[in-house]
Amino acid sequence: MNFAKLTDNLTKRGWAVSTFANKEDAAAYLNQQIDGQTVAFGGSMTLKQMGLYEQLSEHNKVIWHWKAAPGTEDEVRHNAQHAAVYLSSVNGVAETGELINIDGNGNRVSAIQYGPQKIYLVIGSNKIAPDYEQALWRARNIAAPKNAQRQHRNTPCAINADRCYDCNSPERSCRALSVLWCPPRGAEYEIILIDEPLGY
Ligand code: SF4
Repeated sequence: MNFAKLTDNLTKRGWAVSTFANKEDAAAYLNQQIDGQTVAFGGSMTLKQMGLYEQLSEHNKVIWHWKAAPGTEDEVRHNAQHAAVYLSSVNGVAETGELINIDGNGNRVSAIQYGPQKIYLVIGSNKIAPDYEQALWRARNIAAPKNAQRQHRNTPCAINADRCYDCNSPERSCRALSVLWCPPRGAEYEIILIDEPLGY
């Protein structure tokens, strides 16, 4: 994929951008950049597919609620807000430069906006949409239903596996929306673009 237009628009908005041909190269870069830190992960199939938890755990303190002992997930999510480094993917990125995330607990959309000093947003090529409206559509109708399916939610999107129904289910997993127009002040951000599909 040609990242030129996306990279150009992200750079104009103030983001630092690094591009990689595959997840192995991106993981090696992050593993080299992050050393001796307290690192937290948002919920992310992209990070899981990259094997980053295992790699970074060898020389960092890594906090991830997906690896938490049963019953401690909320405490782990809370601690993650205070990590020095935070890693997350996004649910959609527009070629015009907007970054979109939908969250259920709010921990991920919170941490990528305020708290940690360095935030890496790790993005596979499947997350890219031509403009803001289509990136938002993607986040709501592709990423969110797949997340609901993964969590075995009793929601129409998980049952029908086709689209978002903007449901009123008590098990609704979409409860907060984050749109990053530019890097928020007070932290260092780096976008990691990877030329292969990762996560959803
Ligand atoms: S709002 Fe409801 S139907 Fe839509 S993706 Fe989220 S959980 Fe599924």
